[in-house]
Amino acid sequence: MTLLPLDFVDSQQTAELREDEYWDGDRRLIYCTTCHTPRQQYLVIAGNRVRLRCMCACQEKASEGMKKDREHWKFLNRVAQNRAVGLTDPELQRCTFENDLGYNKKQMDIARRYVQNWEDFRENSVGLLLWGGVGTGKSYIAGCIANALLDKGVPVMMTNFPRVLNKLTDMYSGDRTAYIDSLKSFQLLVVDDLGVERNTEFVIEQVYHIVDSRYRSHLPLIVTTNLSIKETKSPEDLAKKRIYDRILERCAAVQVNDQNIREINKRINMEKAAKLLIGGENEETEEI
Ligand SMILES: [Zn+2]
Repeated sequence: MTLLPLDFVDSQQTAELREDEYWDGDRRLIYCTTCHTPRQQYLVIAGNRVRLRCMCACQEKASEGMKKDREHWKFLNRVAQNRAVGLTDPELQRCTFENDLGYNKKQMDIARRYVQNWEDFRENSVGLLLWGGVGTGKSYIAGCIANALLDKGVPVMMTNFPRVLNKLTDMYSGDRTAYIDSLKSFQLLVVDDLGVERNTEFVIEQVYHIVDSRYRSHLPLIVTTNLSIKETKSPEDLAKKRIYDRILERCAAVQVNDQNIREINKRINMEKAAKLLIGGENEETEEI
């Protein structure tokens, strides 16, 4: 029970009655007319028996509800902050399971299971390697996982290798280490487009640092790549092998190459445009 300050003495009890209260002469306590539980209690403080205000059952319930509302509001605020920090590309915020058009059903089911079993994957620091041709929807799938986990309150960062490498190129050595370390504050790191980076010693070293940092801190990593699994498993370059081995050790490889979604979407958009321009179904949409 929550105590309210001592607000009257015994002889004045009836004068303190509020509209929704009554005085129980037997128990010598004020009661609530709604729930019929006491709004007062006796306590012994410093040797004196005192009567203090307390909350009745319905007041407790209302206060609990307000507390829950406040906590929920705080949670939503945190989710919004995490999303603003972790998904800076607004396009990514549209990648959700709800918006999925169903092109990669099998892979989307895997993504859903990843989210459902997140605590286990997090515990075992297991991520995913989504691999397949250009435009097959790998980033979309990764984005769905990122958004769904952000909704659960998990801090997630989704970026791509070219963007991170650009950032690191402009930094001094110490700042680079600090930046890579700062990525540890995200329980999940999703990095798009492994393999499109330039093949310089500096770049390969930075990619290794990012991947290795996740590995050493036992934090999961999701990577997407246009490289085939064969290229990832046996690259010609030894420095790259070091990176890919780390990834393959902790990321379950999922092939995404059923169809080129970008091409399909382009065709659908052009068909829509053609209908608007020509009107109705038309055989000549290809000419547009
Ligand atoms: Zn009550």
